[in-house]
Amino acid sequence: LEYAPVQIKDLIDNIYEVLLPAAKKKSIVMTHDIPEHLFIEGDEDRLQQIFMNLLSNAISYTQEGGRVRVDAEIINEGGEEEQIRFTVSDTGIGIPKKDLPRIFERFYRVDKARSRSSGGTGLGLSIVKHLVELHHGTIRVESRVGEGSSFILELPLMHPFEN
Ligand code: ATP
Ligand code: MG
Repeated sequence: LEYAPVQIKDLIDNIYEVLLPAAKKKSIVMTHDIPEHLFIEGDEDRLQQIFMNLLSNAISYTQEGGRVRVDAEIINEGGEEEQIRFTVSDTGIGIPKKDLPRIFERFYRVDKARSRSSGGTGLGLSIVKHLVELHHGTIRVESRVGEGSSFILELPLMHPFEN
């Protein structure tokens, strides 16, 4: 891993640009509210992979006309361990309660018949979890069938212009 200050707004903007055609095809509106001053000490490629996986899932598992967004807030501000909490949320098909505990396992996919059309392997989220942990962060999911899903990531915040 190559650790350096990574500006999150730029990172998300770039991913949105890449995913825009896929979102447009399904008339999915993508927004975010990431402030310019948020930085993470991390590996840019890996951080990109994290959000790329989560956001392509959000598009794949959201029906025509849905919404996908990323929100960010600082938690524990001014404390010892300041973190950024990202919420990647969609208004998609959701994940059944019984599947939630297994969603980050390798090769685990909900209802293979339903998700076959997306052609995935079930590795995306296991990779995401691994990469989040490499960055000393955590990830969890909240979801309701028919309403949507939120993936909540907490990663250490950095102050690149101090010292
Ligand atoms: P790939 O390896 O190409 O990413 P995948 O998308 O099937 O394949 P994961 O990204 O690991 O694999 O996701 C695992 C399963 O979790 C998916 O098959 C899908 O059933 C479910 N899932 C993931 N994200 C969402 C989401 N935002 N909304 C609803 N279900 C989701
Ligand atoms: Mg996936």
